[in-house]
Amino acid sequence: MIPDHILIRYGEISLKGKNRNYFEARLIKNIKDQLNAFSPGSFEFVKKISGATLVKLNKNGLSDIAEVENAIMHTLGIVNYSFAYSVEQNFEEIKNFCWQLIKEKDFKTFRVTCQRSNKEFPMKSEEIEREVGGFIFEKFGRKKSVKLKDPDCECFIAIINDYALVSLDKKKGLGGLPVGTGGKALVLMSGGFDSPVAAFSILRRGVTTRFVHFHSMPYTSKASVEKVTDLIRVLKKYQSSGVLYSVPFADAQKEIVMNCHESLRIILYRRLMMQIAQRLAKREKSLALVTGDSIGQVASQTLENIFVVSHACEMPIFRPLIGTDKEDIMDTARKIGTYDISKLAHDDCCTRLMPKKPETRANLLAVLEAEKALDIPKIINDIFEKIEKIKI
Ligand code: ATP
Ligand code: MG
Repeated sequence: MIPDHILIRYGEISLKGKNRNYFEARLIKNIKDQLNAFSPGSFEFVKKISGATLVKLNKNGLSDIAEVENAIMHTLGIVNYSFAYSVEQNFEEIKNFCWQLIKEKDFKTFRVTCQRSNKEFPMKSEEIEREVGGFIFEKFGRKKSVKLKDPDCECFIAIINDYALVSLDKKKGLGGLPVGTGGKALVLMSGGFDSPVAAFSILRRGVTTRFVHFHSMPYTSKASVEKVTDLIRVLKKYQSSGVLYSVPFADAQKEIVMNCHESLRIILYRRLMMQIAQRLAKREKSLALVTGDSIGQVASQTLENIFVVSHACEMPIFRPLIGTDKEDIMDTARKIGTYDISKLAHDDCCTRLMPKKPETRANLLAVLEAEKALDIPKIINDIFEKIEKIKI
């Protein structure tokens, strides 16, 4: 027996009020896009039914079920899903099918749940539940018990338009909100563990992310840009697009190194990055910047330094990992598939010309004073002529 449908359920909270239709339509669009990306031409339809979204697979989908599931596992906004089997809309057929399905399974307690959206079907939901539940109970020789709350096994029956669906196991999805329902943000992406995980946290709340990476080529190798590109390719699996702005930063760093005290280098690099990122974000209508900072993780991430860096731009800077330990960040990296790429060595533009004793408690006035030695608008304008937009 091969399941030919997928029943997809989403969270309740976001469904309240006026947002409901918008949210559901976006989820359906995203599921279609994901299925087409992972397993092209695998479905006949994706549509809303009462309380769920229903996917009907076609011949291609049935022969490519692992990739179909991969697509669902990479779609944000799905709380849980189950593969379902279509059955003729006839009570005897449904009852026997439920038995065929459940008899293979190992469990102690069970329940039968029915949802009837086709009200022309002659039996009510409760009646179907009772009859099918009783039938299964007897068939098992009364050895399994019915448990309505938290059973080991739930047999679900949906009576929809002109057929019925039966499913057994619910699998957990990624949760969150559908990508595209929360606007756009620009992620400052380095090659480490943190920024891809920060990007995922924002994506998970429905925000479409674009990326900016600062490199010091030719002083650092091309590998750092390639590493970031590989990371974005992984994150792209959770949203349909992958846009990277690759920013040549070596000339600006040279200006800072020549004109300012070495202890302030990292802070001045970071302030400049924020200003460039903000201008890019405004140009492409992103409403926030995102970084992988976590308090105290490295010298540049003390509260004082975060304060001084944030002061360089007026746009909100989201730091979703600010209170997260490195171990937890790495766990998430493993789950989302960025760990193996992040762990490879890379040379970041900021580690180049690293001061011996970087400032850990920057003072805003002192930093503003130091910046007077630089022609910031000119530096930014020069850089903007060389930014490369890469579609991944
Ligand atoms: P990550 O693990 O994300 O690489 P990190 O451990 O290298 O971070 P920092 O170097 O302090 O930590 O960087 C803090 C944040 O600043 C990064 O998470 C990222 O958002 C941003 N950032 C750092 N370097 C770059 C870069 N070269 N290009 C773009 N953003 C950067
Ligand atoms: Mg870090």
